[in-house]
This record gives sequence, structure tokens and C-alpha cells, in this order.
Amino acid sequence: MVLDKLSDSLKLALKKLTAGKVDKEAIEELCSEIRKSLISADVSIELSKQITKNIQDRALKEKVAGGLTAREHTINIVYEELTNFLGKNFEEIDTSKKPTKIMLVGLFGSGKTTTAGKLAKLYKKRGKKIALVQTDTWRPAAYAQLQQLASALKVDFYGDPKETKPQKIYKNIKDKLSEYEIVIIDTAGRDALNDELTTEIKSIDKEVKAQEKLLVLSGDIGQAAQKTAQSFHDAVNVTGVIVTKLDGTAKGGGALSATATTNAKVKFIGVGEKLDALEHFKPKNFVSRLLGMGDLETLLEKAGESIDKDTAEKAAKNIMKGELSFTDLYNQMDALKKMGPLGQIANMIPGMGQMNIPKGVMKQQEDNMTTWKYLMDSMTLKEKDNPQLLNESRIQRIAKGSGRKIEEMRELMKQYKQMKKMMKMISGQSSKMKRMQKLMKGKGGFPGFPGMPNA
Ligand code: GDP
Ligand code: MG
Repeated sequence: MVLDKLSDSLKLALKKLTAGKVDKEAIEELCSEIRKSLISADVSIELSKQITKNIQDRALKEKVAGGLTAREHTINIVYEELTNFLGKNFEEIDTSKKPTKIMLVGLFGSGKTTTAGKLAKLYKKRGKKIALVQTDTWRPAAYAQLQQLASALKVDFYGDPKETKPQKIYKNIKDKLSEYEIVIIDTAGRDALNDELTTEIKSIDKEVKAQEKLLVLSGDIGQAAQKTAQSFHDAVNVTGVIVTKLDGTAKGGGALSATATTNAKVKFIGVGEKLDALEHFKPKNFVSRLLGMGDLETLLEKAGESIDKDTAEKAAKNIMKGELSFTDLYNQMDALKKMGPLGQIANMIPGMGQMNIPKGVMKQQEDNMTTWKYLMDSMTLKEKDNPQLLNESRIQRIAKGSGRKIEEMRELMKQYKQMKKMMKMISGQSSKMKRMQKLMKGKGGFPGFPGMPNA
């Protein structure tokens, strides 16, 4: 998942806390582990110190809130301080104005053009009328790159491969843009923000007057992020940040903490090369996932985008009740496929993030899913809705009918039973979560479940 390493070391630090007594020594040790984890993830030393100092001061000073154990209290402080550091509350980009102009700026290869496509896809899903505009006259292939994305997404595209002045490209098409709800403007980058690029983006900025000026930072930029963010901010007053490539081995902490420099919040994160690999960045949910507490909200959001609303609601209801039919399983597998790699999804399920499931297992599971779909296609509707009907003769018939091996059918039955058990566990976790949310009310709210399975 995003920031695997940081996540693992934070989870380990919290696990240590579970093992012993929560006293001064344990808290100091926890903070020292967290500080080391943050520094290894490229968060600056000063920031890391600041964050852990806040955690330590609060954990030692604040009284344990009623209904919480000392451990839960401390974990909640860790959660709150990490959330504060990442921008605290999530605010969606305001797209009410027509057209809402979103301009992307950033260095070479940070992911601007890809992200322009991702944003177009996201807002198109929401039914917005979109134009993609290329003003990059620096890279010869930039025009074709965005044009291809636009044509794949079936959104309108503007640019001019012959014009050399970016602001002129925009000026010439400006009038046509008023019919769109969202206009996404891609710009050129350089290896570093030099005088040439500064002058260039300043003049585009003056022409475009975008409501949103989003700085695209690659997750692997490291501690250089602060300086880059500052200089872009000085040039055009960025209104938000997008951190890309958080799916890879990028440490990410540097780019994510750029917000502390610019005061512009991280709005989105890029988690893959595909056009739907873009997530809203919600600090609370992100930290919750980072600490292995899951993120049901984002999970359900993704599910909502991948399946129609009725199916999603029915599935969510069944999950909450701990029930599961083959129809649910089939729909879920269908949706899962569209939601992204299983490994990323697993981390959003409370409790599963801490299980550290090996990546190979996830890949195998993806292959199995294809086989299972064949098998389920051979079931009758009645069988799908009532899995208890599946006796030996029906099991044999289904395997035969789908042309699959009987062992594969048995494996599916086994998986089904396991999934059902997991659903029960998730439904148990979410009622605990609700209890926690009640207790935390007025304390900023807690979207994940702060307890470990072995708590
Ligand atoms: P630009 O120069 O800023 O326009 O960057 P591009 O959009 O051309 O992207 C540069 C490279 O980064 C391309 O190979 C993209 O596929 C890749 N890329 C962009 N965003 C992501 C991301 O979130 N994850 C991964 N893995 N690759 C990305
Ligand atoms: Mg580009």
C-alpha cells in the first residue's frame, strides 16, 4: 500500500505499546520509534521532532478520556497528531463555479499530464462537462500525450502544437471554455524551477486565473519537496498539492509534509499509472490506514464508484450484518476487480491492515477470482442466493457445468466460508468502531478503529 514501510514501522511501534504497561518510559520509547519512522520516510528532522514532541507532551499530560484504556488514549493522540500534521480536515475542491479552472504545475516527470487525465476521469464520473488543455510547449510529445488521454476518456481537448507561447495557447481558446464546467490546464515542467519556468508559469497564471493551482509533487522527491514547494508557492501561490507515485517504493513523507511549508493542503494522491489511480487525500482516513486501522469510508467510496449504488448499498448492508451470499460474492469480486489491486484494498479494511498479508498471496487470490467467476456463472440464481443449498451433487454439477475441476469448486466453497467469517469479523469491528466514535464525539471524530485485533 501507500507508504508500506512507514506504515509497518508505525504499526510495530504501536504493537510494542500493546505488549507492556503504558507508562512514561513506554511513551518515550513509542515517540522515539515514531520519530525514527518519520525520518526514514523522509519527513524532515525538525518536523518529525515537532510531531513526536506534541505526542509525548499530550500523552504524558492529558487525562485519559472516560471509557478509554490508557493504550487507546495514547493511540488516539498519535492518530490526532499525525492527522494534524497532514492537514487535519479534508476539504473537497469547490467546483460550483462554471468553469472551475484547475491548473497543474510541477517539475518534469512529477505526473502532471497523467494527473490531468485522472482528474478528468474523476470529474467526468460525476457528470461534469470537462475540457483538458495542454499548454506544455516545451516537451514535443506533451500535446499528443494529453490528446490521447482526452480521446480515451471522451472529453474535449484543446492545445496548439505550433504555438510556442503557453499563455497565447490559452488566450486563443479562452472564449470556448466558458461552456465547460471544469477546465483542467496542464503546464510544462523543467528539471528544476529555474528563472525560465518561473517566468513562464507566472505568465500562464496571469492569463488563466485558475481557482485551483495544484502543485504536483512526485512521492519520491524526498526532502527536496520543501524547497520545491516553497519556490512554486512563491511563483504562483499554489492552492493545493497532489502527491503522485505513492503506490511504489517512494518514501513519500517529504512530499506529504510539503503542506507544512506552503500551507496548501494535499488534495489528492496518485497511487498508480492507471487513470483511476487517484484518491482524495483525507488526512484522517489516511492516517487510519497508515496505522493499520483500516479506512472503511474510502473503501465504500471506491466500491460506490465501481458498482452501481443499489448493489453497493446491499453489499454494505450485508457486510455490516456479517452475511454473505454467492450473489454478494460475485458482485463484490466484480467490483473488487475494478477497485484496484487487492493489496491496496485490504489495507482499508479495519483489522486487515495489521495482518501483513504477503503480496504473492494477493496475486494468487486475484487469479483464483477469475476461476471462481466461471464457477459462479454455472450456479442457478437460487443457489447463488442460498449457498446452504449447495450439497455434494450440486457441487459436482456446477464444477462439470463450468468445465472446471472439482477441487477448484471445493476451494471456492472454502473461500466462501472464510469470506463469510471475515464479514462477521468486519461487522464486529465496525460495531466496535461505532462505540469508539461515540466516545470520541466532540474530540474530532475517529474514522478508524483504534484497537488491535489482539487488544
Ligand atoms: P509530467 O512530466 O509531470 O507531465 O509527468 P507525466 O504525467 O508524463 O508522468 C511521468 C511518469 O510518471 C509517467 O510514466 C507516468 O505513468 C508516471 N506516473 C504518474 N503518476 C503516477 C502514479 O501515481 N503512480 C505511478 N506508479 N506512476 C505514475
Ligand atoms: Mg507533462
